[in-house]
Amino acid sequence: MPEISSTVPSPREDTVPRKAVDENGTANTPGTLDRKRRTTSPSTNGSPVKRAKTAAETRKKHDKFWFSDGNVIVCVENYLFRIYCALLQSKSPYFIELFSQPDVETNRDVVDGCRVFTLPGKKKHFTALLDAIFGTLLLSEQTPSYFTLSCLLRAAHQWRFPAYEAWALKHLEKEWPSALDEYTVFPDDPEPLHKYASSVIVLARSCSTTALIKAAFCRLMWQPSLDLSATPDALTSDADHYNHDVVEWDRDDITLTREDLAKAIRLSEYISGEWQAISSKPPSHTFLSDKKVLHTVVGKSCDQILKRIWHPLVTESDFAAHTWDVIDNLRELIQTIDWEGQGICETCAKKCRDIWEETRVLIWKGIDEMLEIET
Ligand SMILES: [Zn+2]
Repeated sequence: MPEISSTVPSPREDTVPRKAVDENGTANTPGTLDRKRRTTSPSTNGSPVKRAKTAAETRKKHDKFWFSDGNVIVCVENYLFRIYCALLQSKSPYFIELFSQPDVETNRDVVDGCRVFTLPGKKKHFTALLDAIFGTLLLSEQTPSYFTLSCLLRAAHQWRFPAYEAWALKHLEKEWPSALDEYTVFPDDPEPLHKYASSVIVLARSCSTTALIKAAFCRLMWQPSLDLSATPDALTSDADHYNHDVVEWDRDDITLTREDLAKAIRLSEYISGEWQAISSKPPSHTFLSDKKVLHTVVGKSCDQILKRIWHPLVTESDFAAHTWDVIDNLRELIQTIDWEGQGICETCAKKCRDIWEETRVLIWKGIDEMLEIET
């Protein structure tokens, strides 16, 4: 086996898998480590100790991405992919560098006459990349699943496929936008997106992007205990979506760093505090009690009406219980409640709505500061 550390271009530092890489450059998944330990540990019943399998013996050809006339083999997590050198090079500077390295005669790793390049990384990420290049990911009429998009983004970032990185990010940003007017929380059915919130934060961090961070943190606020007790099993994928591979999540796909957990807690306190300040008492702007203005109800200014209706309509409302969702709660005040129907004059209602919208924008910007996102 070649000394892989000297032949593989360094992956981006931020994407180097945290787990160990063995002497063959293969990332040790917990499964493979366990197998090795079992085959090398002394037998307890006195029978001869079995010889440990070498990495070459445990490798297997991938069912789908093994082209009989492929001219190079890439090995990821002990899966061999026989593919076309020039196609990968045409899209990735990483593979230009990798495949351009001189073929050293000694310690050559060759299978079926093709050089084998063993890369650290995850098979599910690499298959997303190969499905984009050789398969149907980009051609399917089905919307790609979050699983597939996240695998493609990780692979494209790690192995430097800038066009695919941009493509995956663009698709993810549709559901995880940074712009206030594109962000909704789906309060009636928060489950489908919100359950991915922590994994989107982990994904964005590992791919050095802040594009998805804001929506992900805002939706994380909907998750009980900030998702601390979530397991990979919680992230099953929608069968209606396109999946490039078997959906399998790892714990490190959903585990937030201490820094991000601290940010989540600070954000929760910030937005809850803002909503508390808004919802606990009716607005007291001077225009609401301006005697020179003709308000709707004879003999009453709008501040008097607000004092009567604010608690039942706002403070005690169902949506107000979502203290972590000040952005959408303000939208309720602006769009859903019929203030004019409650006796508030048109002028005061419009001014209040404008102020709430300004507040909403300010809080949305405040979230950037809270999360240390530079805009
Ligand atoms: Zn008024």
